[in-house]
Amino acid sequence: MNRRKKTAKATETAILTKSRRRCAICFSLKRDLSTKNGQIAHLDGNRDNNAEDNLAFLCFDHHEEYDTKRSQSKGLTEQEVKVYREQLYQEVERLAPETNTPLAQVIPHCPLPPPKMQIIRSSHFGRLDSKDGRFALLLKVKFRNESTQPVLLQHFRIQDADSWHAPQLQTGNVFLYVPTNIFAAALRKEDDITEALHIPEMAEIERHAFFILPDQVEPFPGPKKLRLTVEALFVQRSPQRVTFTLTDRGEIEQEGGLGNQEYT
Ligand SMILES: [Zn+2]
Repeated sequence: MNRRKKTAKATETAILTKSRRRCAICFSLKRDLSTKNGQIAHLDGNRDNNAEDNLAFLCFDHHEEYDTKRSQSKGLTEQEVKVYREQLYQEVERLAPETNTPLAQVIPHCPLPPPKMQIIRSSHFGRLDSKDGRFALLLKVKFRNESTQPVLLQHFRIQDADSWHAPQLQTGNVFLYVPTNIFAAALRKEDDITEALHIPEMAEIERHAFFILPDQVEPFPGPKKLRLTVEALFVQRSPQRVTFTLTDRGEIEQEGGLGNQEYT
């Protein structure tokens, strides 16, 4: 092996370990930190230029896209990919500092965890507006986004037995009647959750969700409590679910208390 080939081999190893076979473009454009089958790309197009600064590990798709579009006006530029490569190296370093911890154990398949979801105590259930009204559930929900990226909540829904229900837009004063009590709440449209919800990075926000539920078997709630599950679906994050039961006082009870629901 001649001297130049040895240097190339050492550089190749450096590229593979610094990137841990993550594609710089997948990471920077799509926050995709999964390992890829790929190749080391020569960013200036010169296969003999094996300087480390000229090399980046890219997945097959992005390598091909880079090589074919680099010279075109809208294609990926050399400087742009170098910036992406630096961002990837920093993230890899941040997640597995100085250790030999396999990155696969550090990074779950979905690169960022979903916001934590918590049902808060002022949630209530009862008949709507009169003792003969429909059954309604008013959920107050808190989301805590602990990641450094904003996240979009796309769908929020509730499961009662086998059917799913979407929240309904409800504003103004709402009264919920249970045999022992009446709950009143003033609902504002801006706190409503019927549309996609943007949750900023490192932020905690509270919203309400209002559901009309099918009539329950009387007397409600009987000895068998009503068990419900709410589900939040986020763009590019794992879904979150919280299961709880309704009490005869029209309040909600979450297994293990109303603390923060851990994501799985
Ligand atoms: Zn890629």
